[in-house]
Amino acid sequence: MKTILTIVFLAISTAFYGQIDTRIYDIVEDVSAEKLEYYVQNLADFGTRNTFSETESDTRGIGAARRWIKKEFETISSDCNNCLEVFFQSKTVTPDMGSRIPKTAEIKNVVAIQKGKKYPNSYVIMSGDIDSRASDTQDFTTDAPGANDNATGMAGAMEAARVLSQYEFDHSIVYVGLSGEEQGLFGGKFLAEYAKEKGWDIIGVLNNDMIGNIEGLDGVIDNRSFRIFSEAHNPTETDRERQMKRYYGGEVDGVSRQLARYVYETTQTYMPEMNPIMIYRLDRFGRGGHHRSFNDLGYPGIRIMEAHENYNQQHQDVRVESGIAYGDVIEHVNFDYVKKLTAVNAISMASLAWAPPAPSEVAIGGIVEPSVRFKWEQENPEDVKGYKVYWRSTTSPTWDHFRYVENVNEITLEGIIIDNFFFGISAVGENGHESVVVFPSKIMR
Ligand SMILES: [Zn+2]
Repeated sequence: MKTILTIVFLAISTAFYGQIDTRIYDIVEDVSAEKLEYYVQNLADFGTRNTFSETESDTRGIGAARRWIKKEFETISSDCNNCLEVFFQSKTVTPDMGSRIPKTAEIKNVVAIQKGKKYPNSYVIMSGDIDSRASDTQDFTTDAPGANDNATGMAGAMEAARVLSQYEFDHSIVYVGLSGEEQGLFGGKFLAEYAKEKGWDIIGVLNNDMIGNIEGLDGVIDNRSFRIFSEAHNPTETDRERQMKRYYGGEVDGVSRQLARYVYETTQTYMPEMNPIMIYRLDRFGRGGHHRSFNDLGYPGIRIMEAHENYNQQHQDVRVESGIAYGDVIEHVNFDYVKKLTAVNAISMASLAWAPPAPSEVAIGGIVEPSVRFKWEQENPEDVKGYKVYWRSTTSPTWDHFRYVENVNEITLEGIIIDNFFFGISAVGENGHESVVVFPSKIMR
């Protein structure tokens, strides 16, 4: 009898796991390559968007570019009954603040917020960058079209806003153009500080930086692969938290890493032809991006980007030298690929913003026991249909196994030895959408 019951239970949970939301397919299809090209073309046409370039002209420089982005967000908003709150968020930088600041300038981010209906103070953020650079990062007059770096990320955020603003979400979504990336990640720093001041509860930051190149300098042409960079753990962790990892694990399970796994899984589920590659590091070797500013303050944040870069086409004056064409011009951007990566962002944000809040106070126990015990707390349990208790081999990058349970906030998994796996828990909503997996932070004796 017990065996039969177990089989029935498994059948139900498997059926539930298979629940998909067809709106996600609509979102994938709705992202438009033409729209993305329109955004990138307009951004490239401002000549240069260097942080210190001119701000008075309406056709050239960073000032014109950010005003145009704001206007585009406002147009998107007017098509959704003013569902976006659009504003500049700014702060001044002076030469004493960094070696790459030639003069005092206003760093202005363009922010568009789609408020969540149930959890307005809980945010998913998608960022791109407004600014571009020539060979010399302090050269603010030479043309720097920055078509791929990073008009593509900016365009992606604008297009995601256009597509997702046709829906209503439980959590808030922020679409943002950050500024001052090339001179010291200032825009990200200022927005992260702003979020901290306002007490934003940040589910995650999807930072998009270069999402349009499919032909690498390595000779590889690949329009399916992309990289997801994530830091193992935030630099805000305490010595005690670091010590705990020696005994209880968690070296590869920080909050940004869980966000990376979420994007990876969502892509695998809804866009199976894509090839997401998780890279277990903050960013590329010795280089940076705007998600770092959020990580610095303890927020989950990842970088989404192309798999194969062409270094001749980034941070270079537009020119031909020894037969090689340098420069970040629009001709090198593949808009079908930008569309795919924008869709990856849009569906990940939609899933997160439709999911219940993640469980909290997740505790685990089972030392010298032939079973593992869990206990957790849940904000607004009425929004939760059930929970997935995950486990994976300690060498696996992904959450490979789970048990689905309902109407409980504690469970014992019999026959599983705590020593041999890593564990985590997510909350699942009525619509099938799932929160980020939470790694246990408490030990039960
Ligand atoms: Zn760059």
